[in-house]
Amino acid sequence: MYIKTKGLVLRENVYKESSRILTVLTSTEGKITLSARGAKRKNSKLAASAQLLAYSDMTIFCERGRYILTEARSIELFEGLRDDVERLSLGAYFGELLETLSDEDMPNPEVLSLGLNALYALSGGERDPELVKAAFELRLMCLSGYEPYVERCSRCGGENPQEPVFDLVGGVLTCKGCYTPGSGKPVLLSPGTLEAMRYIISTDVKRLYSFKLGESSKKQLSEVCQEYLKTQLGTGFKTLDFYESLIKFKG
Ligand SMILES: [Zn+2]
Repeated sequence: MYIKTKGLVLRENVYKESSRILTVLTSTEGKITLSARGAKRKNSKLAASAQLLAYSDMTIFCERGRYILTEARSIELFEGLRDDVERLSLGAYFGELLETLSDEDMPNPEVLSLGLNALYALSGGERDPELVKAAFELRLMCLSGYEPYVERCSRCGGENPQEPVFDLVGGVLTCKGCYTPGSGKPVLLSPGTLEAMRYIISTDVKRLYSFKLGESSKKQLSEVCQEYLKTQLGTGFKTLDFYESLIKFKG
């Protein structure tokens, strides 16, 4: 049986010298693993579409649960990422997150579209990569059933806590006075960070990356979104470690 779909390559693994095994997020089949035979051969028609983070129209042959890429025509290759190791490594992290939070054989068009928007924002070069990263992480968590509650204090119901505390474990906001120490991981948020989190959670996806923040709030937002994701998912990410080592090196 042949399937026609659109797919974004989240990961590529070498398989025999000239072939690739690809993890692809498709619009109709969810996340699938497919083989792209001879994709690295000279003149292969699959070469462009078999790259990490390529988005393409794909024709896939499917038999007994195995998928083979037979034809592909690239729609968007995110060229802006390919000559910038920092942006490319951040894109690879987005790919790993999408892989972690997507289900096999279950389409989730919202997650695919969020991923594509993030890659466009990163590849375009006009958006601050740190903000794109934070907004993508937090919004992806919302779509995956981990939406934090930051509308008001979860104890007293106050809408604008003077000293807002966000608990990375419980995923809820409280006033500093309402917070009871326990097994949580509290962070005292700046007003700018709280406002940015509320914006990211509730705005239209098309405007997700259209906000600005002062340096200190930007740094905090970046830490909070990343730590919230890692705390909730209980795992780290190899691609994130690599990206962080690049940033550190840049200093
Ligand atoms: Zn309170």
